[in-house]
Amino acid sequence: MMLDPAKLPEAMRTISAWRIEPEAPVNCPQCGTSGFVITDCSARPHAEWYRLQCAACGLEQMLNIPLGAGGPGGGY
Ligand SMILES: [Zn+2]
Repeated sequence: MMLDPAKLPEAMRTISAWRIEPEAPVNCPQCGTSGFVITDCSARPHAEWYRLQCAACGLEQMLNIPLGAGGPGGGY
């Protein structure tokens, strides 16, 4: 299942929080259950790629964050 485009800002926030605190439990931006899995597949320094997976709602999506785009919590 692809991420609902309306949930994209929530997904970005989720990734930002996860980068700051990778050990903390992550809730799915789509269905809100815990157990959300984020895998860093980044090809630095060109771009950041994250694989988002949720067993509860079946979400599976690659999300690209262009470097330099900034964003909430982004410090680099
Ligand atoms: Zn989910």
